[in-house]
Amino acid sequence: MHYVSTRATSASAARNPQQFSDILLGGLAPDGGLYLPADYPQVTGAELDAWRKLSYAELAYEILRKFATDIPDADLKALTARTYTPEVYRNARADESSADITPLRVLEDGAQGKLVLQALSNGPTLAFKDMAMQLLGNLFEYALARNDDELNIFGATSGDTGSAAEYAMRGKRGVRVFMLSPHKKMSAFQTAQMFSLQDPNIFNIAVEGVFDDCQDLVKAVSNDLEFKARQKIGTVNSINWARVVAQVVYYFRGYLAATTANSQKVSFTVPSGNFGNICAGHIARMMGLPIDKLVAATNENDVLDEFFRTGVYRVRKPAETFHTSSPSMDISKASNFERFVYELVGRDAERTHALFRKVDTHGGFDLSGAPGSDGDEFKDVAKFGFLSGRSTHLDRLATIRDVADDYGITIDTHTADGIKVAREHLQPGVPMIVLETALAAKFNETILEALGQDAERPAGFENIESLPQRFVVMPADVGRMKAYIAEHTGL
Ligand SMILES: *Cc1c(COP(=O)(O)O)cnc(C)c1O
Repeated sequence: MHYVSTRATSASAARNPQQFSDILLGGLAPDGGLYLPADYPQVTGAELDAWRKLSYAELAYEILRKFATDIPDADLKALTARTYTPEVYRNARADESSADITPLRVLEDGAQGKLVLQALSNGPTLAFKDMAMQLLGNLFEYALARNDDELNIFGATSGDTGSAAEYAMRGKRGVRVFMLSPHKKMSAFQTAQMFSLQDPNIFNIAVEGVFDDCQDLVKAVSNDLEFKARQKIGTVNSINWARVVAQVVYYFRGYLAATTANSQKVSFTVPSGNFGNICAGHIARMMGLPIDKLVAATNENDVLDEFFRTGVYRVRKPAETFHTSSPSMDISKASNFERFVYELVGRDAERTHALFRKVDTHGGFDLSGAPGSDGDEFKDVAKFGFLSGRSTHLDRLATIRDVADDYGITIDTHTADGIKVAREHLQPGVPMIVLETALAAKFNETILEALGQDAERPAGFENIESLPQRFVVMPADVGRMKAYIAEHTGL
């Protein structure tokens, strides 16, 4: 299995065939594109039949070995078995089984169609990012040990990603995490989740500033290529290919759990921001999984909804990006979207490059086919099954209330965006699976607003705010930041 960049010329792709392990620790390809397999591995009906009986960890192994062909089977099997355990994904609802890892729950089965929730948020940080990040932690440790190397992950977070990365990398040999967050700007719960980690390889740095200051610091340090190389600095952002591929697994799992024969189809609705999660659904569909529709649900930051309705991709300026009550979807551009556009334009890397150059110079592109547009490929979007919808704060409150009243469970704000949009696309005979991307306890303020009572906290999180915290406070100063990193890596 070889990987190519969405911006590679055929000559450069032939010159630099990349294997899974080559791209595991990195982000963007050197040409600024994103990596994709040269061809999607296909699954047969016989394989799907056999996979119906597998545990989540066994299924993850079967799917990953199609992509990570340069990791010996026995090693991959051990890595997936260690990752996908009921102990790691232990926060299932009382009436669901942790052994299922991503349990399904039928909410509704009526004349309009079947509505199903797939729980992806039972991992240590109560959000779906743990599904991929926990595997990444084990893969990184394995790959670094194999090359007797080390890696210092340096990033900025306003919440979900940073904590998922820290819980994945804690205690891992060869890996340190330096995570910046805006001092006193995260919720008490999120702060406690990150800062209560006592592992010596985790460094929480509270920056005196806002999230943008943190991001600017990461950029400034990463732009110093000599420092970056010497300090072995890397990232774990959502464009990382291994994260995307780990997410492919739960689409298979959801399909297999919701059906009894391969002639049946299902659809998925995915609360979307950076297009990482739903991109994995697209890849599962390209591998031959019988997915009918892939519905992207956005909040008020509706870049993706606009594209899937009109064919116009228009990234937002910071001033046009809203702070919403589903904050993990507050994005101005969707960093994984290029992976789909590459497919949509027939894997034409030059076209893809030109379109995303236009994103940089003109803030977007137009594939609607209208006079003066950049192309007419929007007409082909339906072939890939994509649909979309958007949701607002008021929709979120109403949906959280409805779901509590009708089905007796509390859902988080991002999942509420998914349910709202999924209901607009129900189809009799095709189960609609909504991916639950976080647990309500993480976004309690909005739950309180919707229901007048607190969200339930999973066991072990009751007193998290009172645990001792380990962090340093620093000014937004690049020089001080570099000195801190160097001092703690010893490199
Ligand atoms: C990250 C995140 C999302 C968005 O996922 P993308 O892969 O960026 O589309 C949605 N919901 C929650 C809770 C998240 O943490």
